[in-house]
Amino acid sequence: MADYLSDLSRKHWMVSNPKRLNRTGMDGKSFRCPFCPGNEEDTPPEVYRVGEGEANKSGWEVRVVPNLFPITDIHEVVIHSTSHDTNIEGLALPQLEKIIRTYINRFNFHKHEGKVYIFSNQSLSSGASLIHSHSQISVLPQEIPTDTISSQPVENIIEQNNSFVSYCPTYSEWSYEVWIKALGQNKFESLNETEVKDLAAILHLMINKLKKIHGSSPRFSKKEFGYNFYVYPYDSWYLRIIPRFMERAGFELSTGIMVNSVTAEKASQELRDITADLHPVL
Ligand SMILES: [Zn+2]
Repeated sequence: MADYLSDLSRKHWMVSNPKRLNRTGMDGKSFRCPFCPGNEEDTPPEVYRVGEGEANKSGWEVRVVPNLFPITDIHEVVIHSTSHDTNIEGLALPQLEKIIRTYINRFNFHKHEGKVYIFSNQSLSSGASLIHSHSQISVLPQEIPTDTISSQPVENIIEQNNSFVSYCPTYSEWSYEVWIKALGQNKFESLNETEVKDLAAILHLMINKLKKIHGSSPRFSKKEFGYNFYVYPYDSWYLRIIPRFMERAGFELSTGIMVNSVTAEKASQELRDITADLHPVL
């Protein structure tokens, strides 16, 4: 069970869940990837799939299973593809569209059970414990206050397509963080097919641009390319990509104030100028 604890002010909250301790790969035992096709029996029974075949057998293209090591009491894993080592930036756009449709499906499935968070940690440096690319759907009880940053004004635009704009908000806490916001009024839970395609395209492009920025800087590329992204799926919904080029350190931990040494204007200029190589392998 998840245990929610607050500090004395009741402004700051943490969640404790001992099941997290023995996550796959953290217990020293030999490793077989539970997200690879053929190993379906290594996960809890699946709750959703895109693709063919019987539940808990191969044939899937995107697979959703309960998280064996949950943070919250409802916590699912979205396995992005059957490829063990292809991250979002290497997937073909139709595959990324299937992932986004899966997010929408799971959001609609859980939206009456609490506050739904959709996020992805890519690479060990961003907090992932398995390299097989995946996202997570976590549902927090309504009564637990959260501190999610509100939708920021569109400034420092990087790209725009028919449905979405990507930009670096002036209030950027992380170097090169990128926000994606809808141009229309449609809610995340009711995006149409065109919007799903446009969201996949701009997300894919932005991550590939960030990868280029990472590769072109000797300072950043000392460690592997890693990022987090999340969807805030409620009013004024947005998708925020946070590249993990820099570490949080003592100042941030002691003050709660983030340090960003690259201005949003400079980040957006570089991201506009850089051309991403888009050669999806799947
Ligand atoms: Zn795998």
